[in-house]
Amino acid sequence: MYTQAQTEEHMMIRKAVRELASKYPPEYWRMKDERREYPEEFIRELMREGWMGVNIPAEYGGAGYKITEASIVLEELSATSGGLSASGAAHASFFNVTILTKYGNEECKKYLPKIAKGELRFQALAITEQSAGFDTPRISTLAVKRGGEYVINGRKVFISRVKHSDLMLLVARTTPYSEVKRRTDGITLFLVDLRKANDSITVREIPNNVRRMVDTNELIIENLVVPENHVIGEVGKGFYHLLEVVNAERIEIAAECIGLGRYVISRAVEYAKNRVVFDRPIGMNQAIAHPLAEAYMRLEAADLMRYKAAHLYDSGLPCGAEANMAKYLAAEACYYACDRAVQTLGGYGLSVETDIERFWRESRLYILAPISQEMILNYLSHNILGLPKSY
Ligand SMILES: Cc1cc2nc3c(=O)[nH]c(=O)nc-3n(C[C@H](O)[C@H](O)[C@H](O)COP(=O)(O)OP(=O)(O)OC[C@H]3O[C@@H](n4cnc5c(N)ncnc54)[C@H](O)[C@@H]3O)c2cc1C
Repeated sequence: MYTQAQTEEHMMIRKAVRELASKYPPEYWRMKDERREYPEEFIRELMREGWMGVNIPAEYGGAGYKITEASIVLEELSATSGGLSASGAAHASFFNVTILTKYGNEECKKYLPKIAKGELRFQALAITEQSAGFDTPRISTLAVKRGGEYVINGRKVFISRVKHSDLMLLVARTTPYSEVKRRTDGITLFLVDLRKANDSITVREIPNNVRRMVDTNELIIENLVVPENHVIGEVGKGFYHLLEVVNAERIEIAAECIGLGRYVISRAVEYAKNRVVFDRPIGMNQAIAHPLAEAYMRLEAADLMRYKAAHLYDSGLPCGAEANMAKYLAAEACYYACDRAVQTLGGYGLSVETDIERFWRESRLYILAPISQEMILNYLSHNILGLPKSY
């Protein structure tokens, strides 16, 4: 049975993460957002305290936590004034570490103890390409074997945190799309040590005004050499490896959305109790109260699905539908909560000083990425309802 009951360990994780995050006041995040600066000090502290390696197995120096606990860490990070930037500055590490632990050879796993100790960052994941979009099998970045190494050429877009990472998980084709029998074959995962990439990767930032403190970049990859022993998993089977682990990311994103959603509702409720207009607290108006109650209810429902998905994942059971539904429901609930919080705070909801407008714009991202709501509905229509595929 899955359960939302919190163990003593869960409570301990929540308390410790909350304490760490509380050292970074709203002014810190506001300043970072305004300057479009990565929250370097915050991330360094997370690394120092071992939080970036919580899901690394104990034999590699990590805490050995499962996805349930990892998602609790992210939930607590986003339930602060740092919001989705606090969790988003960190979260790829959790996904990358999961894939490295599951499929990496011993050579690749040598990086794990350093990630666990906070000496190395594994924060970048490069899948998306302009000509492929959500149709990942269409990627064309090509890795060609030359002796004991691969030479990689191609172009990636929207790759986050590259400027703040030592290692990157790169998804490339080892067999071109036109030459594979199944479109999902021929894709391979590479562990790239960015410190050794030298001039082979040109990074150009693609700025956005939604999540301003986490860099998102275009990468031009020219003759990047990666040793053969830095292939993660089986050559040509990378797409399937990604599919195995991607549910972990969906659950983590859901947890982040739930953390921020609840935090934002608590802020809006506080305001609604105290703001008096027409001689009464605005929270007495059902037009203000009901949407907040609805937002709360949506978040609670999404959280049940998140714990169900996490339980299945941690038990090694299939959880594709649950993980996708958790991400969908939580992203919608969080965006709705943020939107209603803007409305509750009136003009102050859009003022930078209250942070609500930042939460609102940042929450929009997870309606679209890392997987869009439409692609989740596609997944459910095809794989769960058995409807004919639209592509
Ligand atoms: C801030 C940010 C950070 C990101 N970070 C990373 C990262 O670190 N690494 C990485 O690899 N990628 C990253 N991405 C990429 C993100 O996952 C992409 O936006 C995504 O892969 C989609 O590509 P696209 O934008 O070309 O959308 P498209 O594929 O062009 O889709 C556009 C729209 O059409 C819809 N659509 C497309 N096909 C269908 C269909 N068959 N049915 C219904 N609807 C459909 C989509 O849902 C979407 O709404 C990031 C994106 C952003 C905005």
